[in-house]
Amino acid sequence: MTEAIIIDGKTFSSNLRNKIAEDVKSLKKEQGIVPGLAVVLVGENPASQIYVRKKEEMTKAVGMHSVSHHVKADISQQALLDLIDTLNRDPVIHGILVQLPLPKHIDTPTILAAIDPAKDVDGFHIINAGLLAIGKPALVPCTPAGCMMLLKDTLGNLQGKSALVIGRSTIVGRPMAQLLLAADCTVTIAHRYTSNLEALCRQADIVVAAVGIPHFVKGTWIKPGAVIIDVGINRIPAQDPEAKAAGKTKIVGDVDFEEAAKVASAITPVPGGVGPMTIACLLNNTIQAARALSDSTAPS
Ligand code: NAD
Repeated sequence: MTEAIIIDGKTFSSNLRNKIAEDVKSLKKEQGIVPGLAVVLVGENPASQIYVRKKEEMTKAVGMHSVSHHVKADISQQALLDLIDTLNRDPVIHGILVQLPLPKHIDTPTILAAIDPAKDVDGFHIINAGLLAIGKPALVPCTPAGCMMLLKDTLGNLQGKSALVIGRSTIVGRPMAQLLLAADCTVTIAHRYTSNLEALCRQADIVVAAVGIPHFVKGTWIKPGAVIIDVGINRIPAQDPEAKAAGKTKIVGDVDFEEAAKVASAITPVPGGVGPMTIACLLNNTIQAARALSDSTAPS
């Protein structure tokens, strides 16, 4: 049986970042604007520290202005709101990202709602979520935006395709479903209470898995020729007995890749599929926000 095409998110992301770097140069030359991204990290969460460091490095690598605010875990909610207010008013900052999760004493929706929607490069503000839901231009959450780019690159026109999104989180599943709907797919959203998931999966031309359970989607569920986008990032014990005994781990997706690759026409690997797209789309949102903000402040 034909093996699926492996969708190479790493190369796609690298090409996208090169294009963004060119766009940053043009924006600076033509309008004197350097897109600026501010990242706010609260506390010492080791995974968040790694993500934030990567974001800072890549922001600088494309020639953008990068600002980091690393604040203590016991910062008060008001002090965090004051910091966001300062960034909202800062003309050299076009994108604001507050790294999640936040400590328990801080109300995440209140913080996200305080970010100027025009600078909301994570696309989590209710205004951007609402614009996306009614099919209007918005700053779109980075992971689903990256999935859409990979899907369009693989399939071209998505019109009329039957798409199944497994997962309904506000950061992946829901915005993903909205984007597929905007691309004229017939969309089904599955979640933990969906009873006939296997049958739904067998009918889908496109499956986007954002569940958080290793190898959840089986090869036998997949319609021959379907395109599979695996958003999952799950850490499991290494398979090799020696590595396992040494406590080593590996990252796998939500799809049983080996099985699925025998049935699908194209599939994203984990790692190297959706993951690398997320930061590239954050930079893409930042340049989009910088252009829109400069247009809105230009004299008429
Ligand atoms: P989440 O926990 O917020 O949501 C998981 C969703 O899966 C929920 O909507 C739930 O209803 C659904 N679900 C759980 N069990 C199910 C079942 N048995 N059948 C059907 N649906 C079920 O997770 P999330 O934040 O959306 O992330 C999902 C996965 O994607 C995780 O592995 C996460 O690490 C990964 N992720 C990757 C990136 C990236 O950059 N590649 C970004 C965000 C999240």
